[in-house]
This record gives sequence, C-alpha cells and structure tokens, in this order.
Amino acid sequence: MDCLFCKIVDGSIPVSIVKQTEKVTAFNDISPQAPTHVLIIPNQHFENMGRVAEADPELAGEILKVTSAIAKDLGLESWRINANTGASAGQSVFHAHIHLMGGRTFAWPPG
Ligand code: 5GP
Ligand code: ZN
Repeated sequence: MDCLFCKIVDGSIPVSIVKQTEKVTAFNDISPQAPTHVLIIPNQHFENMGRVAEADPELAGEILKVTSAIAKDLGLESWRINANTGASAGQSVFHAHIHLMGGRTFAWPPG
C-alpha cells in the first residue's frame, strides 16, 4: 500500500520526530497551522481515528496519552486536538492521525 504516513513510520520519508514508541509516532506537521503543530499517529495503518477506536480502543487511548504527554512536555497550557475524519471534514492523508496544536488562540466554533 502506498501510504505517506506508513513511510514516515518506517523511516523512508524523513520527518522531525517528537516522540516514538512501539505503537505510536509523533512528528511536526510539514505545514504548521500554529506555533506547535504535531501529528500523532499509530505505527500500524488504520484509515482514520474512528477505525482505530473500533478495532483497538487501547491503542486509541495510547494515542491520546502520548498526545497529552507531548502537550505537557512542550509546556502548553491550552491546546487543541483535531481528528479530521473523511475528505469533507478536511482529511487529506488516510492514515489515522491526531493534530495537536497550541501556542495561539483558536476560534470556537471552528467553522
Ligand atoms: P489531514 O488533512 O489529513 O487532517 O492532515 C494531514 C496533515 O499531514 C496536514 O496537516 C499536512 O500538512 C501533513 N503532511 C502532509 N504531508 C506531510 C509530510 O510529508 N511530512 C509532514 N511532516 N507532514 C505532512
Ligand atoms: Zn499508513
């Protein structure tokens, strides 16, 4: 399967790694939308975060745990997570990921 994020996990596409565990990889987004913009992904391929939650809730929890730990490590007091699910919600890479963003204010509702 030709998946960009699988190639990031196996190291064939270089990224700025923030944290990597046996099951999860976190790296800086190439096109940051905030001063902090990290993507947290499962090392195993799933199409989106909904699929991860259905197939492996423990892994979904691990992804959130790593996300929260990174926010803490980076000293973020306020942060936003986003899991775009489906093209019309803005998903462009169909390997599950959470966006962690911080360092600026965010509008609510997001529009
Ligand atoms: P989505 O639109 O699917 O929710 O988010 C995909 C994210 O992946 C985008 O924010 C985009 O900037 C990021 N991205 C796409 N290609 C690359 C890449 O090659 N390296 C990195 N670090 N991020 C990427
Ligand atoms: Zn993949």
